[in-house]
Amino acid sequence: MSSTQSVKNLGPITFVDIDNAREVEQIELMKQIMESGECPFCLENLKKYHRTPVLKETEHWLLTRNAWPYDNTREHFLIILKTHKERLRELSPDEGADFFRLMVWAEKKFDLPGGGLVMRFGDTVYSAGSVKHLHAQLIVPDIDKPGFKPTRIKIGKAR
Ligand SMILES: [Zn+2]
Repeated sequence: MSSTQSVKNLGPITFVDIDNAREVEQIELMKQIMESGECPFCLENLKKYHRTPVLKETEHWLLTRNAWPYDNTREHFLIILKTHKERLRELSPDEGADFFRLMVWAEKKFDLPGGGLVMRFGDTVYSAGSVKHLHAQLIVPDIDKPGFKPTRIKIGKAR
């Protein structure tokens, strides 16, 4: 895609990887973020770039809905770490425990019948993540939707 090629030439990508963005509006927003040099998931920037409300905040994590839910999903939550970390090895046991407490809360609160939980980490070539700042996706497929197709999560970029 030529538009992403020209963005790449602006300089090194630090916090986001536009190759892994999916929607036109998302790509436009990510261009803005790349030009700003800011991490979109760091708390000081989140309000600027993330338009859906925070549903729950714990000591270490925020729960919100993905502004660009995957196709065929009934729920697509994002769980965002409140400090900037990119690798699992940087997480403390307390941050890990807090994460699962929040997941249990969400399962009960939204009466989630089942679904999937995905956390990408590290090098975006391997993760296919669009934002490096550690975050997870909690997904409930919309199995009753006409023409439903199972939700598929991409891990790793084709070169
Ligand atoms: Zn960050």
